[in-house]
Amino acid sequence: MSRCLVTGGAGFIGGYLVEYLLSQGHEVTVIDNLSTGRSSNLDALSDHKNLTIRVGSITDPALLAEVMPGHDQVYHLAAAVGVKLVADDPVRTIETNIYPTELLLRLAAQGGQKFFLASTSEAYGKNEKDSWVEEDDLHFGPTSKPRWAYGCSKAIDEFLALAYHQKYGLPVVIGRFFNVVGPRQVGNYGMVIPRFVEAALRGEKLTVYDDGEQVRCFAHVSEVVRCITGLMEKDELPHRLFNIGSDTPISIRGLAEQVIEQVDPSLEIEYIAYKDAYGHDFEDVRRRVPDTSRLEQTLGFKPTMPLKEILAETIEWKRKELAESK
Ligand code: UDP
Repeated sequence: MSRCLVTGGAGFIGGYLVEYLLSQGHEVTVIDNLSTGRSSNLDALSDHKNLTIRVGSITDPALLAEVMPGHDQVYHLAAAVGVKLVADDPVRTIETNIYPTELLLRLAAQGGQKFFLASTSEAYGKNEKDSWVEEDDLHFGPTSKPRWAYGCSKAIDEFLALAYHQKYGLPVVIGRFFNVVGPRQVGNYGMVIPRFVEAALRGEKLTVYDDGEQVRCFAHVSEVVRCITGLMEKDELPHRLFNIGSDTPISIRGLAEQVIEQVDPSLEIEYIAYKDAYGHDFEDVRRRVPDTSRLEQTLGFKPTMPLKEILAETIEWKRKELAESK
C-alpha cells in the first residue's frame, strides 16, 4: 500500500487515476482547485475511506508544504489545460505550470517521494516529423504567439524534473500525453471529441477547424492511466521520459465522419477558419503522432483501444448525461 498525492485529481485524467489507485488499495490525497477539474469526476468515490480531497490551489506554497509529508508518491497532474484556455490566459499558464512544479520537486527531493510529472505532446511544438520520438528536438513558434507558452512551460517542467533527478537522485517519471479521451471529458476547453459528440447528439453540425486534414491520435484514458501507474511501479527505469498515447493516426475530418456515422449519418460538417475559432494569432500543429516504442519496450504494452470503441463508449456516456440534465 502506498500513500499517493494526486494534484489535479479532480480533472479528467486525475479522476480515472484516483479511481485506479484506490482500487489497488492505495491511500490517495487529492489537491484540486476545481477550476478545470470537476468534483463530479470524483463523485463515485467521494465517500471512499482511503480518499482525502483538499480543495485548494497548487499555487499556494503553504498548502503544498503542509500536504506533502506522509506521502510516498506524487502524481503531479494539475496544470493549465486546453489550448483554448492557454491561449486566452498566458500569465495563468506560466504561473500554474512552472512555479508549483518547482516547489513540488523540491519538497519531493527533501521527502524522498517518487514523482510522476504529467507533460504533453505540446512540448514537441510543431516538429514536422511523421512521428515523434522522446529525444527529438522541440520546435516552438515565436513568443509573440501565446499558444506556444503551454508546450514551453511544460518543457521547463521537464527540465526541472530531470535536473532534480540528476542532482538529487529524485526518482521521476515524465509522461508526455498525446490526445487522451473518454467518458467524462468536457468540451469547454476546446477538446475535440466531447465537442463533436455533444454537437452530434444535439443534432447540430460538427465544426471542423481549417481543412480537417490535421492529424491526431486518440487514446482511452483508462489505458493511459495503466501506463502511468505501470511506469511508477517499476523499480528500475532505463529512461525518465515517455510518450504516452495511441500511435494510430486519424484526420480530424475522419474523426468527424466516424462520430457522424455512429450518431446520425444525416449530420453535416461545417468547416471554419482557425482565426474564427481561436483568434488571428493561432497556429495549429498539423500532425501529432507519437512513437511509442520506448513505452512499449519498457512496459510490455501501449494504448491500443480502437477509436471506434472509444467513441461508442463516449457517445453512450454523453447520451445518458444529456438525458439526465433534461
Ligand atoms: N478541432 C476542431 N473542432 C473543434 C475542436 C478542435 O476541428 O471543435 C481540431 C483542432 O483544431 C485540432 C484537433 O481538432 O486540430 C484536436 O483538438 P484538441 O483541442 O482536442 O487537441 P489538440 O489541439 O491539443 O491536439
